[in-house]
Amino acid sequence: MSSSILLRNGTVLMHDANDHVQAVKTDLLVVGAHITKIGPGLSAPDTILLDCTGKIISPGFVDTHHHLWGTQLRGRHANDLMLDFWPKGMAGFLTGSLFTERDIFWGELGGCMEAIDSGTTMVVDHANMNYSPAHSTAAISAISTSGLRAYFCYCPTPRVTSWSPFEMATSFMPDWVQSQLVELAAEQPFGDGRVQLGLAFDGYFLPKDVVVALFEQVRGPLGLKLITSHYVHTSFFGSRSVVSILNSYGLLQEDVLLSHLNGALPEDAEQIKAANAHIGCTPESEIQMAFGHPVCFRSDLHDVASLGVDCHTSNSGDMLSQMRLGLQNARGARNADFVAAGKTPRTLLSTAEDAFNLATIKGARAVGMEAEIGSIAVGKRADLVVFDAESPAMVCAGEHDPVAAIVLHASVRDIETVIVDGKIRKAGGKLAAVEVDGKLMEWKDVARELLKSRERIEEEYKQLDLETARKTALRVFGVDGSTILDHI
Ligand SMILES: [Zn+2]
Repeated sequence: MSSSILLRNGTVLMHDANDHVQAVKTDLLVVGAHITKIGPGLSAPDTILLDCTGKIISPGFVDTHHHLWGTQLRGRHANDLMLDFWPKGMAGFLTGSLFTERDIFWGELGGCMEAIDSGTTMVVDHANMNYSPAHSTAAISAISTSGLRAYFCYCPTPRVTSWSPFEMATSFMPDWVQSQLVELAAEQPFGDGRVQLGLAFDGYFLPKDVVVALFEQVRGPLGLKLITSHYVHTSFFGSRSVVSILNSYGLLQEDVLLSHLNGALPEDAEQIKAANAHIGCTPESEIQMAFGHPVCFRSDLHDVASLGVDCHTSNSGDMLSQMRLGLQNARGARNADFVAAGKTPRTLLSTAEDAFNLATIKGARAVGMEAEIGSIAVGKRADLVVFDAESPAMVCAGEHDPVAAIVLHASVRDIETVIVDGKIRKAGGKLAAVEVDGKLMEWKDVARELLKSRERIEEEYKQLDLETARKTALRVFGVDGSTILDHI
């Protein structure tokens, strides 16, 4: 098979030094995993030729916060808040405890393939499903199989050991977790170099010396390059600032990526910027789950922000939705302030380009990979998305403002081709087959495995005592139940 791809006569979106996007009608050559030439009239022997006339070529999207594993749980949270989301869904140690390692494989593969289908080429996977060493290796194997680029951020995940009587694994960081982290760190990267190991950590209730020792081990002997944690500052999650904890422990550094940050204090923003750390906002889940307004356009956080999907179990799995919701929600909130004051805004907050950058170049910065991904330039990795700018949704917009065409008009159906690390993973609007256990599987084959797995999990789920699970979730996460009201 040819190792080069020539994308001819497309509208190529290229960032300049100030993050402005220039749209240039030209050719682009991919050789191996890299973009090797951009310019008119390119040719190459023995190449895969893609005629991109009428198409927009965008950098692949970088999703900086996603729990990729839970595809089988999708659809059950349409009307849930966190209170119900936790026991019914992705609080890893509850319903997730029902997942066998095979269920994890299919769930993770489903999440990865949905990401690729929607133009996402890099994901930070907050992998809160490490119930056993086999679960972890199944998830890593699924990412490798899919062709996606990712940070598999290993999250120590205590498991429910008995539902009746209710018992959980007693240690947050048992010996096998320690040893597996060491083993995986020695083995990484996986998937031909695309899948790196990171750490996902939400155990800030642990004593300072335990947290510091873990971070020092991860950054030192294990050599991991990314540490990610959740942080939401609301009455539901409590007044504790994860930023302040990290800062006071001397652990807030540029390899830290914090998710959400809704309600973050001004000093949180200052400390994050001083440390050159970053944040990943997930507008759709944050809006539904009562986290408050997403902060990706907040003036003191926008510079360090990026975007993510969070849970494709409860919301869209594509970055187009996150860009659009993040931008329009921020505009809506600001406009509403004017209206409430009896005034009219003269200008609109932020631009389509700002939203586009959150999902591309700023996402790459947030994961320390700006030199490799997040924009289109010679020498960068070939992570590319080709949109059909003549589709019913994009026609004309693509000629006038291709960035706006993507951010405000496109949907997943308009994505024709997705290339990750120089390999075509979606072509002609259809996902490429993946190889599982030596056998090629089309998406429909994967879907059938997901449906079987879902059915099995659902049978066990029906037996669970959800009320106990709900109470346990509130206790474990330290939620103050007195703040939860039907009306204010
Ligand atoms: Zn999350």
